[in-house]
Amino acid sequence: MKALVYNGPGKKEWKEVPQPKINKPTDVIVKITNTTICGTDLHILKGDVPAVTQGRVLGHEGVGVVDEVGAAVKNFKKGDKVLISCITSCGSCKNCKRQLYSHCDDGGWILGHLIDGTQAEYVCIPHADNSLYPIPDGADEEALVMLSDILPTGFEIGVLAGRVKPGDTVAIVGAGPIGMASLLTAQFYSPSKIIMLDTDVNRLEVSKTFGATDVINVADGNAIEQVLKLTDGIGVDVAIEAVGIPATFELCQKTVAAGGNIANVGVHGKSVELHIEELWIKNINISMGLVNTNTTSLLMKTVQSGKLGASKLITHHFALDDIISAYDVFGNAAKEKALKVILKAS
Ligand SMILES: [Zn+2]
Ligand SMILES: [Zn+2]
Repeated sequence: MKALVYNGPGKKEWKEVPQPKINKPTDVIVKITNTTICGTDLHILKGDVPAVTQGRVLGHEGVGVVDEVGAAVKNFKKGDKVLISCITSCGSCKNCKRQLYSHCDDGGWILGHLIDGTQAEYVCIPHADNSLYPIPDGADEEALVMLSDILPTGFEIGVLAGRVKPGDTVAIVGAGPIGMASLLTAQFYSPSKIIMLDTDVNRLEVSKTFGATDVINVADGNAIEQVLKLTDGIGVDVAIEAVGIPATFELCQKTVAAGGNIANVGVHGKSVELHIEELWIKNINISMGLVNTNTTSLLMKTVQSGKLGASKLITHHFALDDIISAYDVFGNAAKEKALKVILKAS
């Protein structure tokens, strides 16, 4: 079969590799029908994630059809359509028992990281009963790809951890796919204002069509003043960081109101300065983390019912074997006006 293989920093190749096999009775082999590329894959390709070794097949998002099931798999059979979660979980260890699936003793984020991933014609999913979700008949399968990672991440780590409540003012720093996922799912709670901040004019315009009430171009240089102006001088109840660099975390610290929450979703490669000398007296909560995907079923219902417009996040389509072109487009997201790209297997 063909797969997108990481060949060390800066090097990737769409090439022939051995087809995955069932290793444990709890495994399932999925034939991929739709997959995508994540910002995390670009981090891996830069060499930012040293745990990813040469020869690894990338990708941790996708939907497909069950091709083969291990002897102990109870919930799936050959031919079933399934959504693949970016988090693998056994469902029975101590952390799984408290829904901390991201820290499963025999799972967590391993797909396209510690084991071969979904940017391939076939993928082996361990602990399939707990790590796959059945796809309802008639579902928009492309839209469901947004449920593998970005929608649960934006919702759980941004909106839920940030405790967005009706009437709140929310600032989302970063209008990439994850920031947009937070923007879409924050609206479940009817905040009074959702202010999107970014340096990309196109993304800010798009965010207005996704429900942002206000947008601020950070490149103008007075973002803090603009947030304060929009919030009667007090700042926002919830500041969601969806970039992962010191400057954007700083912006959240400077714009959060007393009693507010800073929810960090961004993947940081460098330490940030924590202004505890300003924040302690303002009763600020700070949260951060890796998605648990314990809201996947709930989000799937909101996509199915049309309450959550997941397909809006898809801007480009490619054939799976044209994945190198898809990486070029996704890697130049600003120029290409790209959010999520869908790769479709033939
Ligand atoms: Zn991802
Ligand atoms: Zn577990």
